[in-house]
Amino acid sequence: MNDCLFCKIIAGEIPSTKVYEDEFVYAFRDINPQAPVHVLVVPKAHIACADEISEENSAAVAKIFEAIPKIAKAEGLTNGYRIINCCGEDGGQTVFHLHFHLLGGKKLSESF
Ligand code: 5GP
Ligand code: ZN
Repeated sequence: MNDCLFCKIIAGEIPSTKVYEDEFVYAFRDINPQAPVHVLVVPKAHIACADEISEENSAAVAKIFEAIPKIAKAEGLTNGYRIINCCGEDGGQTVFHLHFHLLGGKKLSESF
């Protein structure tokens, strides 16, 4: 866990552009945005990927989905947005701390 990039960002050891924070959730701008708004929403507790969500840690995921509408509103995403999670190698995950991409600010393409 000490080697986890997003744990370091949450701890403030690596700088990020924070857009939202509460007791359970941290959200910051993606360093390589794929849309006018591209925010990563992560649990403060380390969960490696969606495949590791369980009865024990799923409350953090609920907190993320409670935070997303607040972030979307603050970012002006009044016309909708997309939430993406990449899980594991085949899912294209590159950072192994659970995160949800919140994308918007334009009409997004239908392909993935
Ligand atoms: P994944 O491919 O795992 O779903 O998404 C990882 C995301 O993290 C990518 O969109 C990538 O641009 C972003 N990312 C990687 N390193 C950093 C970083 O140091 N800071 C920020 N803000 N985003 C990062
Ligand atoms: Zn982590």
